[in-house]
Formats: sequence, structure tokens, C-alpha cells
Amino acid sequence: MDPLLALAITLAAILTPVTLGYAGLCWVKPFTTCRRCAGTGRTTTRVLRRPRACRRCDRGLRLRAGRWIYNQFARLHRESTR
Ligand SMILES: [Zn+2]
Repeated sequence: MDPLLALAITLAAILTPVTLGYAGLCWVKPFTTCRRCAGTGRTTTRVLRRPRACRRCDRGLRLRAGRWIYNQFARLHRESTR
């Protein structure tokens, strides 16, 4: 067997379940907890440690990157086929 073919089969066998698993996760649970505020929705300022609303998320939840990409393509398809 060609070593490059074996490498390609091995890579595909590893990457396909990971990709499909992440796609399924983005489909089932499109939102994840924000890493900046750990899901609280509030952070503290750097200088005075004053509490303020987190700027990266909406109430502690963020859209997953895979779902954001899917939404962009879905919107592009919807607007181009109207
Ligand atoms: Zn946040």
C-alpha cells in the first residue's frame, strides 16, 4: 500500500468524526458559555475592578464559531436565491 494513501486514510478517519461531531454540536447546542466572563455576563474593569456588562457576549452566552459560519453561508444562500 502506498504510504501517502495510508496517511490520507488515517487522517480522514480521524478528522471526519471530529468534524461531524462539531457540526452536530453546533446544530444541537449553538450557544456556549462565554470564556471572558465564564457565563456570568459581567466582568470587572482592569484598573478599578468595577463591575460592568461583558462586551463579548449576551448574558453569558456566545454563538459557537461553527454555527456563526453556518449562519453566514445560510444568509448568503438565502439572499442570493430570493
Ligand atoms: Zn461574557
